[in-house]
Amino acid sequence: MKRGVLIVLSGPSGVGKGTVRKALFEEPDIDFTYSISMTTRKPRDGEVHGEDYFFVSRDEFEANIKANNMLEYAEYVGNYYGTPKSFIDETLASGHDVFLEIDVQGALQVKEKMPEGAYIFLTPPDLKALKERLQGRGTDAPEVIERRVAAASSEIRMMANYDYAVVNDEVETAVDRIKNIVQVERLRVNHI
Ligand code: 5GP
Repeated sequence: MKRGVLIVLSGPSGVGKGTVRKALFEEPDIDFTYSISMTTRKPRDGEVHGEDYFFVSRDEFEANIKANNMLEYAEYVGNYYGTPKSFIDETLASGHDVFLEIDVQGALQVKEKMPEGAYIFLTPPDLKALKERLQGRGTDAPEVIERRVAAASSEIRMMANYDYAVVNDEVETAVDRIKNIVQVERLRVNHI
């Protein structure tokens, strides 16, 4: 059985990863399996357990780390976020493509373990646009926004560790670029 392609969409918080991912999954010809992350962050309005994230306590998250159940995890602005491992292995082995949307620390950990994936860095047109997007979202306190922008400016330097860079100027354009990347990945010799 041909293995699925691992697609990792990453980039600074607030760049619009979630928006791009949702638009991508609405495309009729897209059949990726989304890897649902685990987090200790509280759900935002409208977020659903088992759909957006698995929302767990710190104790539960730490028990999963100890049991070696996480492919990667990171602590970000006071909360844990991580990717449960077995689901990804099983889905790829069954020939389905897996899509991860994770932060930069996490993506680089996954790349160490699974270098065969397609690592896509979603970048804001500039930091001003990023700050405006975080403010417009209205979900974070001003000091959290400052921390997210500070994190973003150092994360942008990590772009060199990725395979592809996609500027998120227009969601539709970013989606098209990602679709093109996945088509190219399927042509890799080791995927035939
Ligand atoms: P948010 O709180 O806005 O949902 O997410 C904060 C950051 O954590 C975002 O950059 C998001 O992409 C990232 N994130 C979400 N899931 C994971 C994960 O499983 N692992 C890691 N390392 N980061 C994640």
